[in-house]
Amino acid sequence: MTSSDHLRLNHIAGAWHAPAGAKFQPKRNPGDLTDVIGEFPESSADDVTEAVDAASEAAAAWSRTGPVERAEYLYRLERLLHAHADDLAHAITREHGKPLRDARGEVARACAITAFFAGEGRRLGGRTAPADDNDTLALTFRAPIGVVGLITPWNFPLAIPVWKLAPALVSGCTVVMKPSPFTPLTAALLTDLVTRAGLPTGVVNLVQGGRTAGEALAADARVRGVSFTGSVPVGRAIQIAGAPRFLRTQLEMGGKNAVIVLADADLDRAAAAVVHGAFGQSGQRCSATSRLVADVRIKEQLIERIVASASRLRVGPGLDERSDLGPLISAERLAACEEAVAEAVCDGAVLRLGGDRPSRDTVPDGHYFRPTVVDGADPGSPLAQEEIFGPVLTVLGCDGYEDAIALANGVRYGMSGTLFTRDSRAMFAGMRDLEAGMIHINRPGVGAYPHLPHVGTKESQAGPAECSAETLDFYTETRSACLDYS
Ligand code: NAD
Repeated sequence: MTSSDHLRLNHIAGAWHAPAGAKFQPKRNPGDLTDVIGEFPESSADDVTEAVDAASEAAAAWSRTGPVERAEYLYRLERLLHAHADDLAHAITREHGKPLRDARGEVARACAITAFFAGEGRRLGGRTAPADDNDTLALTFRAPIGVVGLITPWNFPLAIPVWKLAPALVSGCTVVMKPSPFTPLTAALLTDLVTRAGLPTGVVNLVQGGRTAGEALAADARVRGVSFTGSVPVGRAIQIAGAPRFLRTQLEMGGKNAVIVLADADLDRAAAAVVHGAFGQSGQRCSATSRLVADVRIKEQLIERIVASASRLRVGPGLDERSDLGPLISAERLAACEEAVAEAVCDGAVLRLGGDRPSRDTVPDGHYFRPTVVDGADPGSPLAQEEIFGPVLTVLGCDGYEDAIALANGVRYGMSGTLFTRDSRAMFAGMRDLEAGMIHINRPGVGAYPHLPHVGTKESQAGPAECSAETLDFYTETRSACLDYS
């Protein structure tokens, strides 16, 4: 697979097209700003209309193709993803900045997700039900909802589009993908592989661009569902825009995830998990460990372990195999991290590690920020309440289990929640009491399995879970049928 010119275009009705207004935006490597990846379309509402035209035309035939046959395309796509894993990982690292080993892990995850949903093609059933009338068969079945829009962020530029695309296709929906303008190349490579998997014309369409294209997709009355991953304000805007026509939405949004460490916990294990969850992928994931809620009896010992381990992490370009942390995605995100930390310190919090950029002679010109640990911020302050989306850990002290749970739950988000303890009663109580969609006990607060729901609660999620068979409730609707054979 080479990065040839067609990869800079939209893919509509089986062909690569320049955007209607021929507008393009440059895309640079955030870990080395001298590396220009290319210019990608800034699509207009007209481009989106064309893509929805194509998806609408393809919808009837695709929905009549049986799920087992639809799954065959996914098995083919999974083999292609495997075969092109290196190209995909390099593209992810180059345009996102994450270390290559993380990018390879993302490709492997995309393969596993694709295989899982291919298998769902043989399980996409309904149920039989007792009939009130004699000689009557009553049953339910799933029907695809039709054209869906997939609007995705930049932080997992392959895995997130795939965990929407694969269930959409096996369900019988046709698709318009609108990826993040920060990661257009990975989206184009994925679309290229989708075309090589032989999907019928118009079943999968790609429109590159930003807010204008996203808004047009959510506004098109022929789009029956929008699956979105991104920030809370944009998720809310999509839901509001679609409400008058009862648009089906699946919204996965931000997080402000806590790891609780009780006084009886294994501190070495907890420290390792916190470092992995807070600083892996430079903290740019919805489930990143953003808050450490530590019992005051062990807080200092835990901070020492975390600081010792995090200060050994190497910040550098993702393409350098020695790097543990890549850059942030943009200058704006970098400035937001710096400001959030500086503001907390100004208000009396104590900086225990980082808080600044690495020295310029150690990294190329990029958006780098050092792993940062801040202790003593007010639990109601922006640093302790708002998603930072960077390698910044805020430490809050607590006194026992109930206090820890109250602090962990005291945010508007509910993505992941984690508890470290040796007390089996507290482990089970934590599963019950943590207000989070994904709960981890004695393990890092990040990471997911394809067959388990990827889901949040409170402002982190609206609509059915992603990944797992639960997501099929978004792409299909349940219908009932009664057949009189008397
Ligand atoms: P974002 O909300 O800015 O953008 C997400 C997508 O929406 C992009 O494709 C963008 O172009 C598009 N968009 C922007 N404005 C739009 C509008 N008005 N209408 C329709 N589409 C629009 O988010 P981001 O900066 O790309 O990603 C970071 C955010 O995503 C963080 O808040 C993070 O927590 C969240 N996220 C959540 C999950 C999850 O699974 N819950 C996973 C990854 C990221």
